[in-house]
Amino acid sequence: MKLLPLLFVLLASAADAAKRPNILFIFSDDHALNAISSYEGPLKDAAPTPNLDRIAEQGAIFTRSYCTNSICGPSRASILTGKHSHINGYVDNNTSRFDGSQTTFPKLLLKSGYQTALVGKWHLKTTPEGFDYWEVLPGQGSYYNPDFIQQDGGRKRYTGYVTDIVTERAIDWLKTGRDKGKPFLLMCQHKAPHRNWSPALRHVDLWDDVDLPEPKTLFDDYSNRHPSLAKQRMSIANDFFWGWDMKLNGDARFPEYFMPGLANGERGRMNEDQQAAWDAAYETENQAMIATVEAGEMKGDAVTRWKYQRYIKDYLRCIRSVDEGVGRMLDYLDESGLAEDTIVIYSSDQGFYLGEHGWYDKRWMFEESFAMPFLIRWPGVIKPGSRSEALIQNIDYAPTFLEVAGVEIPETVQGRSLLPVLKASGKAPEDWREGLYYFYSGEATHRVAAHDGVCDQRYKLMYFPGDKSWNLFDLEKDPMEMRSVHDDPAYAKELERMKGLYARLRDEYRMNEATLPAHRNDQGWWKKRHEETLKEVKKGGHELVFIGDSITQGWEGAGKQTWAEFYGDRKPLNLGYSGDRTEHVLWRLLNGELEGVDPKAYVLMIGTNNTGHRMAPPEETASGIKLILELLRDRSPDSKILLLSVFPRDEKPDGAKRKINDGVNEIIKGYADGEMIHWLDLSDTFLAEDGTLPREIMPDFLHPKAQGYRMWAEAMEPKLKELLD
Ligand code: CA
Repeated sequence: MKLLPLLFVLLASAADAAKRPNILFIFSDDHALNAISSYEGPLKDAAPTPNLDRIAEQGAIFTRSYCTNSICGPSRASILTGKHSHINGYVDNNTSRFDGSQTTFPKLLLKSGYQTALVGKWHLKTTPEGFDYWEVLPGQGSYYNPDFIQQDGGRKRYTGYVTDIVTERAIDWLKTGRDKGKPFLLMCQHKAPHRNWSPALRHVDLWDDVDLPEPKTLFDDYSNRHPSLAKQRMSIANDFFWGWDMKLNGDARFPEYFMPGLANGERGRMNEDQQAAWDAAYETENQAMIATVEAGEMKGDAVTRWKYQRYIKDYLRCIRSVDEGVGRMLDYLDESGLAEDTIVIYSSDQGFYLGEHGWYDKRWMFEESFAMPFLIRWPGVIKPGSRSEALIQNIDYAPTFLEVAGVEIPETVQGRSLLPVLKASGKAPEDWREGLYYFYSGEATHRVAAHDGVCDQRYKLMYFPGDKSWNLFDLEKDPMEMRSVHDDPAYAKELERMKGLYARLRDEYRMNEATLPAHRNDQGWWKKRHEETLKEVKKGGHELVFIGDSITQGWEGAGKQTWAEFYGDRKPLNLGYSGDRTEHVLWRLLNGELEGVDPKAYVLMIGTNNTGHRMAPPEETASGIKLILELLRDRSPDSKILLLSVFPRDEKPDGAKRKINDGVNEIIKGYADGEMIHWLDLSDTFLAEDGTLPREIMPDFLHPKAQGYRMWAEAMEPKLKELLD
C-alpha cells in the first residue's frame, strides 16, 4: 500500500518536470496592508500602488493572511521552514539566530533541480544556505549607498538607493545569472519600508502640500484592553527619535516630544549631492516646525499630528520605490516571455502600524501587525481578480512552493499548501484549518508584553502569560480591536470555545514549555559552557556525542574515570548541562552546538528536570524529547541515536517524580524505530528487586555516584558498540 502514493508522486513529478513554474518571491519589510491600494485601506486614494495592484488584478489577493510571530527574523525563518518559531528556533530578534543547517524550501527546490537565488535583505544572522546565488544586505542594511555581502564573504558597496539596487540586482540575475534550462526560485527581498523610512531622492517631495488622512485610533487611550498596551514604547506621541525617525538635524530639542540620542545615520551615508538634495527637501519643513513649537504655536496633540505626517509620508515614499521596483520586475517578465511560466508573489515579513492605536512598529497580535500582505499571480492557474478570505499564514509558503515544484513536503512542515485554494479562485476547501496560532516572545525592545493567541474567521483570543490573563476581540463588531470582551458575560460561550481552539492549536503545533527553546544565559557558568562548547564543536571530528542534563554532565565528575576508560578513544563530546530541561537542549542545539557535528552516534537522555522543576506532565516532556530527536535526524540523517530512558528518581517506585519519569519513558520508547533511533531502558540496572533506588548508587535519588556511572557504561556498552561499528 505504501508504494502506491510514492509511485504516484514519482509519475506526477516526472510528468510535471518539464513545466515546473518559476517562482518570483518579492518580499518587503514591514509593509502594512493599509499601504497597498488593493487592500482598500484609508490611504488607497492618496497613495496608490498600481504595480502591486497589478499582481492582485491578474491573480489573487488574500485578505486574511497572517504571520506566526510579528517581527523580521522569526517571520523569515517561518517562511523558509514552513514551521512556527519554536520549531525552527528563531524565536526572537535579539537572542535567536537562524540555524541554517535545517531543512528549508530553497534547499529542497535546489536539490530537485531548481536554480535558486536570493537578493536583498536576509536578516537571519547566519549565512544563507540553499541558494546557487545570493547577495544580501548585512543585518538591517542601509537605504543609501548600501553594502552587500558577497558569496565569497567580501562586501561590495553600491552607490544609490537600496530598493532600486535590489531590483536591479534581481533583474540582472534573471537576465544574465541564471541557467535558462532550469526553473528558478528568485527571492527579491527589500529593506524598505523598514524604519527609518528613508525615501529615494526622487520621492522626497511626494505629498508635500497635503495632509494625509489620520487613522481613527491615532489617539487611542488603551482602555478596555490588557494593561500592557499602555506600557509599550512604540507610540508616535512619545517614541520617535529626533534624528533617526523624524529626520531632524543637529542636537535634539523639545524632549517632551522627541527622543534624543540617535541621529539620522542614513544622511551620514549620503554623498554630497545626495545630501544636498535631501536637505533641500526636508530642511525648510524642519525649521518651520522648530520655529512653531518654539513660539508655543504648536503643542501636545498637534505635535503628534506633525510627527504622524512626517512618518506616514516617509513610509509611503519608501513604498513608492518598492511599487516601482515591482513594476520593473513585472515588465521584465513580460518582455522576456517569462511571465506565463512564473508565479509572482508579493508579501512582507509582517504588517505595521501606520498610526493605528497611536503606534508605529509591529509585534502585537492586533490586525495591523499580525496581517501580512499576500498577492499572487499565476497565469493559467489562478483566475484573475480572485479574492480569498481563507486563513493563511507564512508557514504555508514553503509547502506551497514545494507542491508546485512537485517536491515532496516533509512531514515536519507545519503549514499547508495553498495550491487547492489557488486553484479554486481563493476558496478554501472544506477541511481547511479552523484557526491560526500566533506567538510573540516579548523582547525588551518597545516593551511589548509576551503574548500568544489564536484567531478564527471572526474572533481573536490573546493570552498574556505575564499575568495569566486573556483578551478576546469580536472582529466583526469591533474591527479596530478597541474593546476586549473576555469579561463580557454575553461572550462567555465564545471565550470558552476560543480557549478550546487555543489548546487544540498549541497541541497541533506542538507548543508548550518543553518545546519552546530557552537559554539560561543569565547564569554565567551556563553561558560560558555554551561558548566553550561552540569552540569545541568547531574543531570537528566528534564521533560519539552525549546530550543531556546534570546526569550527563556528571561524566566530567563522578563518571570521569569510566568515561576515559570507555569513551576516551571514541572521539566523544559531552553536551550535558546541569539543570537543563528539554527546552534548554533545544536552544543549545539550535544555536550552534551541532554546527559541523555529524557523529556516528548520539546518546540522548533528557527530561528529568522537566519533572523535577515543574512536575510537567509526561506528554509535554515527551513532546520536547520528540522535537530533539527530529532535530538530530534533520541535521545529521546518517547518525544513529541511542535514546535512553529517563533515569528513575525518588527512592520508592510510587514516588511522584518516579511515576512521571516512568510515564515519559512509556511514551518516548515509541519514538525508536530500531534503525536510526534505538531505545535502551536502563532502569533495571540501577533498581533493586523491589523497585527501590539504592542510596549507594544514587545518594540523592537522581545523580549516580562513580559506581553508578560504571554500571551505566557497562549496561550500555553492547548497544553502543553495535551503533558505533
Ligand atoms: Ca519586518
